[in-house]
Parts: sequence; structure tokens; C-alpha cells
Amino acid sequence: MDKNEGKWTWEEDGMKVVRSVARTGPGCHYGCGVLLYVKDDKLIKVEGDPEFPINKGSLCPRCTALTEVVYHPDRLKYPLKRIGERGEDKWERITWEEAFDNIADKFNEIRSKYGPESVFFCQGTARDVGVYQNNLAYSFGSPNTLAFGPLHGHACHVPRVITTKITTGVYEFPDYSQFFPNTHENTNWRMPKCIMIWGNEPTASTSPGSMGYLLMECIKRGAELIVIDPRKTWVAARAKMWLQIRPGTDAALALGMLNVIINEKLYDEEFVRDWTYGFDELKKRVQEYPPEKASKITWIPEEQIIAAARMYAASEPAAIQWGVAVDQTKECIPTIHAIISLWSMTGNMDAPGGNVIGSGLFGLGQHGGSQYDNLNEERKRNKIGAGMYPLFDYGYRMPPGAQLTEQLLSGEPYPLKAAWIQSTNTFACGAADSRRVYEGFKKLGFVVVVDLFMTPTAMAFADIILPAATYPERDGIGLVGSICVGTTNKAIKPVEEVKSDMEINFELGKRLNPGAWPWKDVREMFNSMLEPTGMTFEELRDKGYLYDKFQYKKYEKGLLRTDGKPGFATPTGKVELYSTILEKCNLDPLPYFEEPPESPVSTPELAEEYPFILTTGAKTPVFFHSEHRQIPSLRRLNPEPITEIHPDAAAKLCIKEGDWIYIENRYGRCRQKARLTERIDPRVVHSQHGWWFPEKSGPEPSLFGVWESNINLLLPAGMVGKSGFGYPFKAQICRVYPVEEA
Ligand code: SF4
Repeated sequence: MDKNEGKWTWEEDGMKVVRSVARTGPGCHYGCGVLLYVKDDKLIKVEGDPEFPINKGSLCPRCTALTEVVYHPDRLKYPLKRIGERGEDKWERITWEEAFDNIADKFNEIRSKYGPESVFFCQGTARDVGVYQNNLAYSFGSPNTLAFGPLHGHACHVPRVITTKITTGVYEFPDYSQFFPNTHENTNWRMPKCIMIWGNEPTASTSPGSMGYLLMECIKRGAELIVIDPRKTWVAARAKMWLQIRPGTDAALALGMLNVIINEKLYDEEFVRDWTYGFDELKKRVQEYPPEKASKITWIPEEQIIAAARMYAASEPAAIQWGVAVDQTKECIPTIHAIISLWSMTGNMDAPGGNVIGSGLFGLGQHGGSQYDNLNEERKRNKIGAGMYPLFDYGYRMPPGAQLTEQLLSGEPYPLKAAWIQSTNTFACGAADSRRVYEGFKKLGFVVVVDLFMTPTAMAFADIILPAATYPERDGIGLVGSICVGTTNKAIKPVEEVKSDMEINFELGKRLNPGAWPWKDVREMFNSMLEPTGMTFEELRDKGYLYDKFQYKKYEKGLLRTDGKPGFATPTGKVELYSTILEKCNLDPLPYFEEPPESPVSTPELAEEYPFILTTGAKTPVFFHSEHRQIPSLRRLNPEPITEIHPDAAAKLCIKEGDWIYIENRYGRCRQKARLTERIDPRVVHSQHGWWFPEKSGPEPSLFGVWESNINLLLPAGMVGKSGFGYPFKAQICRVYPVEEA
């Protein structure tokens, strides 16, 4: 046993050690257990906490570089007010009081003139911001709070949340033993014999990045992998089967596998009979996708599709780990529906080692919306994009990012006047058609940015900038995905005047609507949030982490439905292979494949001009989206933006390793460095996202070189799926050529 077990702080080698949960920033949006080593109020180093059940002492480079982030000379340290024109680097330092008063006055003025919905709130995928920001927006009266800002949340995780919700009632996770504090040692858990990793690299990715550690342990213990990815990733290199898929054709693969599983009767007949709805209709539908046809569509050899389907179905248990790739096809809902059907039909639904429904974690994840119910109906109806697509009414409150940009530009149905941008670097990071987003934001009269560093977004638009604290500089509630809850513990004196996101939102919230923020201080607010756990912040901090009760096969025990009856929380009470909700929304109730809108198949003439399939957005272990570009040790590992291209394709274009190349299509162009690699198909290129250059000139027109290597310039924002969810960001077309040639 660790001699410090059960303590949250102690002395070691003349240093204070603080045990904490690494909820960003910087980092990612999971949370690993860390030990922060402090001397004279300064952070000396960070190590993984060997007692924390998720990462068990491991850390990825983003967290090991923490001291470089905290003490970086370029950190924002004081509230700033713009004194020049937008885009100029001219600021004056103001006090926090001045900043809050200024923002509150401006927001109140806009609220009374144009209505609260004319102020929108954007958040990034990090820093615990969601909980506090949603309540800031809702208590102000605005329904317009956007996770991911103008990044298309409707093409990032949200489609999986919606599709699981409408077809099974709730989200399912691959079971790596994460819902037990003793993880792999728990005797109720069974290790998945086969893990199918679909469009995801859990060891580099951030959601669920820290789960990568648990997956790794399964691999060490003998779990076999099927990896579906256009690139030979770290996990693909260790897989029993790597299916090198054509980007954007995931639905055809899933349907081809379902064809094999159904026609060869490899499914769990009892589960299908008792707990699913629409088997006959699905059986009929999959006849349209024999493996031979799926092979032609996906480029995966027919025998591999058959072998993968058999291997997955025969492995008992088996789990599927999916990633953003399945959201970023235009018709993502039927893609996701097909994958859910795979784990539902093979008896892996909520079974040990399969795809399981989480514990609910005391309902803590819902807290962020607690003020939503106080919005009146008119406000809800005024939400950006409300009513555009019937499926929007099924459980997701946030407006679609693409519609935000349209409304900014058109002023219809009402003008947007101000923005609160917290921990998101809008057009430099995840927003498709970045120029258009930029033009849209230019229309705003008043913009506040909360961040750690000056970014292209802050330089271009902010009227006021508020400096945020990193996680060792603040307290917080560390929600580790849907797995467990711990505390983020302040370990050091904050750098100059930085404040935590929670304090910022709390103090502004109190000014805008004091009744909605009734707590004396942030600590009291944390205690109120933790009430369902029966613990105070201090008690939880002393305990380290807390798990909610978890059990398997909840549908048999009446634990999923509000009426307490066995079954699933869907209209039919069953897993809906045929979705009655999709039918009600006038959408196809069964999974299907649709060719990406621009591809060698759907637009052959265009593809002659743009012969490569462009895929983008794969994570690296060193950056979190557009974060970390100014951190020396991380930048050294990935100094330039990289486009991967097969050596044969590169040779035909006279492109050599390390050459600067243009990637171009009819929407835009950017330049990146060529990396020649055989891990990608000669017909596909992969380009990194999130690039800007903190070392370059900040003021307009450069904006830290944000227009140079921004791959989102090549992604159209308007090609939305029929459901209102899904965009073809993983499967565009492009050409590439050396920069000198241009
Ligand atoms: S996955 Fe990496 S960045 Fe995220 S909390 Fe863990 S160590 Fe930190």
C-alpha cells in the first residue's frame, strides 16, 4: 500500500505534494490522477498518481509539460481591455472589478435592447467550463450556449449521444473495467476478448484519452484488436486485423458486417428476441449490403469484412470503442445506428466486457443544465437553429455551430450582438470554413475571451480578455468522464492575477442574476453541486475519488426506465434496431450508407481535379486541438503541421519528405509539411488540424499565422446530414502540390 494513501497532501524530500485530478487546462477533457510537487509555492514537477484507478501513475506528455505551461512568459496574467482597433495588439490592464462591471453593464444593456438570446456563449472541450458556463448563459436568459463554439458539436460526439439515446435510451461505453475502483481486478468484470476500435486512437486521443491506459492493460492481458482506420495507428499496428477503410464509408462496413452476422446467424438469438425491436426490418435492409458490395465501397477486401464480422461476433464478450470519425460523415446517424446494432445483436449490450451503460455518477453530469428549466418557452424557442430539424428536439440542448455562423452573418431571425468565448480558439481550431466564421464574428459588437494565452481569436475579436488559471492554480470538481468524481486541488500560488474559470463565471453570474448564484463563494457552490454524493468538497478531497454504484444488465432489473419496469428507455422499451423516433422525424428508421457528397464516386469529375481523399482531425499525444503550440518540449516533438502522404503518391508529385506542400480544394488552401509514410493509402492524405504559430506576428493580418496551415479552410460548413447532425469533415477531396511549384 502507498504510504500516502488516503492523504491529499504531504511532505516529501523537502517538497509539498498535492494529490489532484488533472481537469484542464491545459490538457484534455478527461482527468487523470496527478501528484503536484511544490516548493515555495511554485510547481516543481508533476507525476502520475499511482493510486488513481484510471491512469495508475501514467501521464501523457501534455501533463508532464505542465510547469512549462504554468510559468510560460506569454501567459495572460491580468484582465485586459482593448484600446486600439480590433486586430491590433493594443491593450490596457484593468482590474477584475472593472472587467466584471464593464462586462455586466454591456451584457445588461444588450439584454434590455435586443433580448438575452442576442448574447451567445461558446465553450471549448475543456476546463470543466461546461457546468459553469451553461448556467451562466441560462441564468442570464440566453438559450445559446454552444459546446465547442462554432466547431460543429453536431459533428463531434453529440451524434453518438443522440443516436444511443433514441435507439437504446442512454449512452454505452466499451467496458474496460472503468466503472469499478479496482478496475481489472474486479471479479464481476470480464475482459473483452475482442475490442473493435472504430475511427479512434485511444492512446493519443483525448476522449477518452485517459481510458487509453485501461485499454492498454486489456491489450497486455491478451485482448485482441480489430482496428478500423484509414491510417495504421499505434493500435492498428498491434491489431489482429486492421481494416484500412476509405474515409467516410463506415456505415457500409457496419452494414456489411451486420449482413454476415445476420445471414450466418452469429447473433444472440435470445437477446434479439427479447430485447430488440425491428429485427426483421434490419435483416431485410442488410441484404442490400453483401460483403462484396461493402468491400467495393470501403476498399476493404471482402474476406477481411467477413473475417472481422465473424471474429467480433464469436468473441464473447466483445466491445466496440468508437471515435469522432463516425460522427464526421454527413449521414452519421445511420452510421452510428448500424454500429449500435452490432453490439446490441451480439449479446454485448450492458454485459460484462461488452458495451455498457455507465453508473450515472450521481447525476453530476446533468448539473450543468440546472438553470435551463428556468428559461421561459419563448427563450427556448429563440435558440439558434431551434425547430430546423425534428431530431433537435430529442435531448440535446445546444444549438448547431454552423447555424451560429449563418445567423451571425445574416442577422436572421434576430441579430447576435455579443459573445462570451471561454477556452475555445474558434476559427483557429475546430470551426469548419474558418474564414466564414471569422467574418461572422466580425459582426459582433462586444466580445469577451477567457483563456490562458493570447490566441488568434482573442487578438482578432476580444474587447476584454480575462486570464484563466491552470489546474494546479485552482480548486475544482474533477468529473472523470462518466466514471468517477474527485477534486482538483489548488497546489500553488496563482501566477499574478489569473482566476479560475469557476470563479470568473461565479462572479459574473452573481452580477447578472444574483438569485441564480445564491452561494457565498465558489466552495459553497461546489458543496451544493456535490450534494447528491453526500460529501462535501473537503470530504471528497480527503477520500480522493468516488464511484457511483454500478451493475450490469440494468435493463433486466428495471433500472433504466422511469416506470421501473424492465427494458430500455425507448418508445418500445427495447433496443430499437428500427427506430420509431427516426421514423417520427421523417428519417429513415433503419441504418443505411450514403456516399460522401464529394468523392471519386459521387463527383467523379471533381475528383479528377482533386484526386486525393482528405481526412483530418486525428489527435497527437502532444497537443490538445489548438493548445500547446507555444510549449517548447511539446513543440519539439511536432514542430510543424504535418500532412501524411504515401511515398508512391508523393513520388509522382515530386514531393520529398519534409517539403512544404499545399493542400487545396475548391473551398480553400493551406500549407503543411509532407510526411511520407506507408501507413496511409496512396489515395488518401491526412492533415493535422488546429495549427497557428504563437511565435509569429499577432496583429492582423497575420493573427499568428492562422491562415497559413489551417486545414479547416478546406472544409465546407454547410453539408449537414438529413437529421441536422453530421458533416463530411473526415472525407473531403483535395489535391496536393509542392509550395515551390505554386
Ligand atoms: S490524458 Fe494526458 S492530458 Fe489528459 S489528464 Fe491524462 S495525462 Fe493529462
